Amino acid sequence: MQRERRLNPRLVWIPLIVFAFTKLGCARDSSHQGIENERAGAGGASQTAGTFATVTAGGSLTSGGNASSLGRDTVSAPPFVLRGGQVYDQGAQDVFVDTDGLLHFLHPGETVPGGAPAIDVSGETIMPAFIDSHVHLAYYDVRMALPRAGVLAAVDLAAPVETLTAEPTPFLTLLSAGPMITAPLGYPTQSWGQNGFGREVTSPEEARAAATELLDLGASVLKIPFEGEPFLTDEQVRAVVEVAEARGTRVATHALTEAVAARARALGCSILAHTPTEPLSAATVDAWSGGAVISTLAAFGAGSATLDNLRRLRDAGTTLLYGTDLGNLLTSSLSIAELEALERAGLTSKEIIASFTTTPSEYFNLSVGRLAENTLANLVVVTGDPEASLSVLVAPALVVANGQLLPRPDL
Ligand SMILES: [Zn+2]
Repeated sequence: MQRERRLNPRLVWIPLIVFAFTKLGCARDSSHQGIENERAGAGGASQTAGTFATVTAGGSLTSGGNASSLGRDTVSAPPFVLRGGQVYDQGAQDVFVDTDGLLHFLHPGETVPGGAPAIDVSGETIMPAFIDSHVHLAYYDVRMALPRAGVLAAVDLAAPVETLTAEPTPFLTLLSAGPMITAPLGYPTQSWGQNGFGREVTSPEEARAAATELLDLGASVLKIPFEGEPFLTDEQVRAVVEVAEARGTRVATHALTEAVAARARALGCSILAHTPTEPLSAATVDAWSGGAVISTLAAFGAGSATLDNLRRLRDAGTTLLYGTDLGNLLTSSLSIAELEALERAGLTSKEIIASFTTTPSEYFNLSVGRLAENTLANLVVVTGDPEASLSVLVAPALVVANGQLLPRPDL
């Protein structure tokens, strides 16, 4: 009944699409290997000038002598200068990435001691790299594609426990919850998440032990679902929240209705993993004013009640984080559908851009998502002014990750 309507029907057919995508991707996208190969190799094979011209389209080489190290299928090492662009929210400034990959702002035209190749980014905007605060990369594995699209950090809000100790992905900072802590046979163990995406507990002691184990294994956040009973008991939720708070982290909750959004907040959860889809009461919006909400509008159809909830939470002062529920929403970049839904919710372009850059950077204490002098360069160059047209954010002209210039995605 009610519960059925809340389940997202897309989840039923996503596994088929993921399978097809994976197969196609393996056949087509051998260039993803380039990132790892170049990382392992020293400096990379020398590239022709023609290849270099390809990588810098929408950013062309204007001077400097190190062009042979830059190429479409290679990761290009610093130093280099991004010349002639606008730094987002700061105006015209050149950006120098030094040999250690550290970012330095230059006055326009200011030269660099020793020289470095310059990439012309006039007419373009240099932005902090992007953060998707709700993904499922064990379910829909686009982890190698995201960095090339400028998404250099993500928060994985349900994955099997083994993923907590997996090898890091080059150029992608990944915070992870590991499996959701849930009741026996609870969500998502009987639907899309039956292969380890839920950790079932039967008592407060087990809940406490599970939370402790996940944090010990490297989880950065914990997650509790309230979707399709059985739910955890209040005591079990409190046990998870207590462990999280004692360890300086937070609990995210999947809570789409008024009743469970209110309950989760009263029990100490800090993050709405989705914008609730059922109209929230004023009291519940108020209760979440000191918390955070991850948008995930497009994945749930971006209905008017959902958009209205997000706008009201924003007005109440809730921390607003862009997130796609990647895996439920199929994308390997910033999602134009999500950006457009955020606009329809009444957010300004500036607010939307903050929701995948500075806001999650501060909220999750990530170095990605901000541009700061003398820090490792993680940035995205987009064509034109992103506040005038958010669509330019989806296909960046250039991406610099950990100081390295990444190959462009195969478009
Ligand atoms: Zn999710």
